[in-house]
Amino acid sequence: MAYDVIVIGAGPGGYVCAIRAAQLGMKVAVVEKRATLGGTCLNIGCIPSKALLYASEMFHEAGHGMAALGVVVGAPALDMASMMKHKDDTVAANVNGVAFLLKKNKIDWLQGEARISAPGEVTIKGVNGEAAHAAKHIVIATGSDVARLPGVEIDEKVIVSSTGALTLAAPPKKLIVVGAGVIGLELGSVWRRLGAEVTVVEYLDRILPGMDGEVAKSFQRILEKQGFKFQLAHKVAKVEKTGAGVSATIEPAAGGEAKVLEADVVLVAIGRRAYTEGLGLEALGVATERGQIVIDSHFQTNVPGVYAIGDVVRGPMLAHKAEDEGVALAEQLAGQAGHVNYDVIPGVVYTSPEVAVVGKTEEELKAAGVAYNVGKFPFLANGRARAMRQTDGFVKVLADAGSDKVLGVHIIGFGAGEMIHEAAVLMEFGGSAEDLARTCHAHPTLSEAVKEAAMGVAKRSIHV
Ligand SMILES: Cc1cc2nc3c(=O)[nH]c(=O)nc-3n(C[C@H](O)[C@H](O)[C@H](O)COP(=O)(O)OP(=O)(O)OC[C@H]3O[C@@H](n4cnc5c(N)ncnc54)[C@H](O)[C@@H]3O)c2cc1C
Repeated sequence: MAYDVIVIGAGPGGYVCAIRAAQLGMKVAVVEKRATLGGTCLNIGCIPSKALLYASEMFHEAGHGMAALGVVVGAPALDMASMMKHKDDTVAANVNGVAFLLKKNKIDWLQGEARISAPGEVTIKGVNGEAAHAAKHIVIATGSDVARLPGVEIDEKVIVSSTGALTLAAPPKKLIVVGAGVIGLELGSVWRRLGAEVTVVEYLDRILPGMDGEVAKSFQRILEKQGFKFQLAHKVAKVEKTGAGVSATIEPAAGGEAKVLEADVVLVAIGRRAYTEGLGLEALGVATERGQIVIDSHFQTNVPGVYAIGDVVRGPMLAHKAEDEGVALAEQLAGQAGHVNYDVIPGVVYTSPEVAVVGKTEEELKAAGVAYNVGKFPFLANGRARAMRQTDGFVKVLADAGSDKVLGVHIIGFGAGEMIHEAAVLMEFGGSAEDLARTCHAHPTLSEAVKEAAMGVAKRSIHV
């Protein structure tokens, strides 16, 4: 069968690209080797982790937060099997939803492992053998895989990646998380709330590398109040299974005396790497750099007609970045002007409280020599936050000192992941801190803290 577009990989990059291309009148197929659609995000990433984060937050609230509101429920009991069923049902509903969307848009799902056998040709190895299909455009959306620690074998039982950490049969008594990035802190939070003692080991001297330094420091203090322990500026030298569990030998990153941490489970969460195995890129001559596929500003590789989007190319490894690239590429293939604004891609850490960011950090602005003003507002001074006993955190708005254009917004707080989007919309339209400050916000809402922080840029916050 000949197609206009064959997309390899049905994650958020691939299936969204396929749907947009079909909407624009193209004949489209998606190749996926997994038994279900949705990729990392829906099967073993964003969606199952959020299901467990929400459920574990409810468990923790029932035990620790509700009595202060006058809701006395007694000590909650953990039904791990039901919690995992909630996660599995959520995943199933989402992956089935993608199957429905492909059908609705008349997209063929070619099940199996794809290889680009020649320019304009994809060969698929499925249960019924191999078949070759012609395509005018081939889109690689094969995503990413867990990055491994040299010498540490992941068995997904006691030494786990994020995938194993989503399926533990019971909360470990002690959990070591290697890596203080988003995935480590989210999954660490799940098991901390369900009773695990959690120690996070991080090579750098800070958590959430790449995020605003003040936000990271403040968030670390909040996590420490929740019982997290941190071993920053330490590297993991060895992880060994013991009779009782697992031990990790850690050393100061700058050199010095090693120490041994004992645990029931070690979660390796040091990042992800682009996944291109089996695609035949070398034979085809597709250029890669540090494992990622090299593309131009139109997502095209150095081989005409072969494109790449999502985790497999440069940029933040985020589902919504992959989706937006999928839409932009499909529109470009249809002769339209698809575009992704990489300056306005929000990032959220779905912990409690949440951390949400969009745009530049203070460190980035300083390094670029940009003069900026800062407006800050704490949730402690927000009436709605007090009414909800959710007063941890603050909003920080960074605006250009000359033009007042908003360059970055950083929020730690309950619902930060929803609130960040008013900043994203404002920034997409090139808005100023004054635009945000003069936009009427409903009272009482947590979002008023965003407005007050914007007012703070001109030193005119009312409620602090
Ligand atoms: C635990 C965890 C939590 C996360 N949470 C979030 C979050 O909250 N928000 C967020 O934005 N991002 C999150 N992410 C990241 C997010 O999952 C990725 O950024 C996103 O899935 C990337 O989409 P993609 O389409 O590029 O690739 P993927 O989702 O990785 O999909 C690629 C697909 O290609 C298939 N494939 C690969 N090679 C072949 C081949 N040769 N033939 C056929 N099929 C092939 C794979 O089986 C896979 O299904 C999380 C990731 C993890 C691991």
